[in-house]
Amino acid sequence: MKLKDKVCIVTGSASGIGEAIAKRYVSEGAKVVIADLKLDAAEKTAAELTAAGPGEAIGIEMDVTSEDAVNNGVAAVIAKWGRVDVLVSNAGIQIVHKIEDFPFADWKKMLSIHLDGAFLTTKACIPHMKAQKGGAIIYMGSVHSHEASPLKSAYVTAKHGLLGLARVVAKEGGPDGVRANVICPGFVRTPLVEKQIPEQAKALGISEDEVVKKMMLSGTVDTQFTTVEDVAEVALLFAGFETNALTGQSLVVSHGWYMQ
Ligand code: NAD
Repeated sequence: MKLKDKVCIVTGSASGIGEAIAKRYVSEGAKVVIADLKLDAAEKTAAELTAAGPGEAIGIEMDVTSEDAVNNGVAAVIAKWGRVDVLVSNAGIQIVHKIEDFPFADWKKMLSIHLDGAFLTTKACIPHMKAQKGGAIIYMGSVHSHEASPLKSAYVTAKHGLLGLARVVAKEGGPDGVRANVICPGFVRTPLVEKQIPEQAKALGISEDEVVKKMMLSGTVDTQFTTVEDVAEVALLFAGFETNALTGQSLVVSHGWYMQ
């Protein structure tokens, strides 16, 4: 069991990629915190994962854009389990518009969830990791941390920003064994992506099938979606890698879309 008794906070883990990461971590013996917007959804996921074992999970309510909610959530984890070994800053949403139509409020909301959320959770966890002399911080980037697509100005800006944050955290955390890395998935068929397909079809005036084949999967080597399990496997690698040899990096998991 690669993560036996490691305390892992995964934000946005009541659904999609975060849920799959939490499940994979519990399967490796971890103590996982399902941190999401709604307590009932977080607790439901946590109960399912604990039943599957061999690790365990708890659910907490956390809006990653609220400094108080993040600090209170991390304090509750420390009170219960005494440490935090892994932070996966994964919570995210998507809003697509052409720049000229992008409501400023939506731009700010996107940057707040993706960037403020990553900053606030890092700020709350890193003192504990430094005191423990070790920890892993993992940011959920995207192929859009390296590549651009129309309609996604806020998302692409935020996901590029996470690379910079990870590199600074890697440098500041290195002397105390705190590593920071970014996972960059291609398209994964989660609720976040299901919502985009009709929205993009409407905005670009093409069919939903064309959005999938021409916009989402055309850059892959095999026209396949990446799966939540694929991403969870990379999250396990970054969480379980014990030395500073692997820090400040991003790893693209995308069926070959964007080769670094
Ligand atoms: P999802 O919609 O299935 O899950 C996102 C979760 O984040 C939800 O449970 C939601 O409640 C939670 N969340 C949203 N706002 C939050 C907030 N303010 N505080 C706490 N939790 C919040 O989406 P997903 O596809 O699993 O996306 C997860 C991450 O993966 C996102 O950062 C996304 O940008 C990234 N990503 C997704 C894809 C993809 O194709 N699905 C590709 C690359 C990167």
